[in-house]
Amino acid sequence: MKSAPQTGQSPVGKVYLVGAGPGDPDLLTVKAQRLIAHAAVVLHDDLVPPAILALAAPHAEVASVGKRFGAQGSTQTEINERMIASARRGLQVVRLKGGDPGIFGRLAEEIDALETAGIPYEIVPGITAGIAAAASLGISLTDRRKAARVVVVANHQAHGDASADWRGLIREDSTLVIYMPGHDFAALRDQLLAAGCAADMPSAIVSRASAPDERYRFSTVGELDKLASVDSPSILLVGRSIDRTSRRANSSAGRAFDEAELLLSSLEA
Ligand code: SAH
Repeated sequence: MKSAPQTGQSPVGKVYLVGAGPGDPDLLTVKAQRLIAHAAVVLHDDLVPPAILALAAPHAEVASVGKRFGAQGSTQTEINERMIASARRGLQVVRLKGGDPGIFGRLAEEIDALETAGIPYEIVPGITAGIAAAASLGISLTDRRKAARVVVVANHQAHGDASADWRGLIREDSTLVIYMPGHDFAALRDQLLAAGCAADMPSAIVSRASAPDERYRFSTVGELDKLASVDSPSILLVGRSIDRTSRRANSSAGRAFDEAELLLSSLEA
């Protein structure tokens, strides 16, 4: 730790922009665990589970700044101001985000704010949901026989109003990892097919990857609409590498949606 400057001013604290991983506390990095335990302030997103927040020190200020539940959430400006104010009080701040902070996590906006305010910061990567989902399915996102590239894309953009432009993303040898897939899988199927995706392209949805109540289902792009709505958060994988015949079940916690659940969800729909 740096000592206080000679001027008598209190030292500025540091902000750690930390990935919390997909949910399973065992998938935290050792560094994330150590930083959470030592932070004076933990500002976290909604996706971070209580078991990870419980690692914070008893005296730490732990606050949700999630936006998931609409009006109750903080604006990005409020989050930035809160991080900066805490650091200026000399406190060590952990800004804890689900998965990896640099994947659809508004990390760039927070970095800009910290840079402008002259606050020291450090980024600590985490396991992103797409990587965790692939592991749960027992598949490899790249496969030198069928998948030469991985495309990380969000169906819903940051403000929820624009859909991804699929032209140029669809290739026989690409694996698409689609965050925030939404619930309108018929529309998504139509968009993917219109962009040139093969109807028999394998796909899978994974809900709550790495959590005890994780679920997954397989389909094809042509039959994407048959994927019943699943619990959020969920992530959609599309590509030849997702072929269910070659997969090996990996997760002891995860299990496929069974026929009864399928029937139930189609009745509810
Ligand atoms: N920074 C995060 C992503 C934030 S965007 C990361 O790297 O994982 C939020 C989206 O991530 C959700 O809508 C969902 O599509 C996906 N997601 C996050 N956690 C997930 C999980 N445990 N299982 C499935 N999808 C998840």
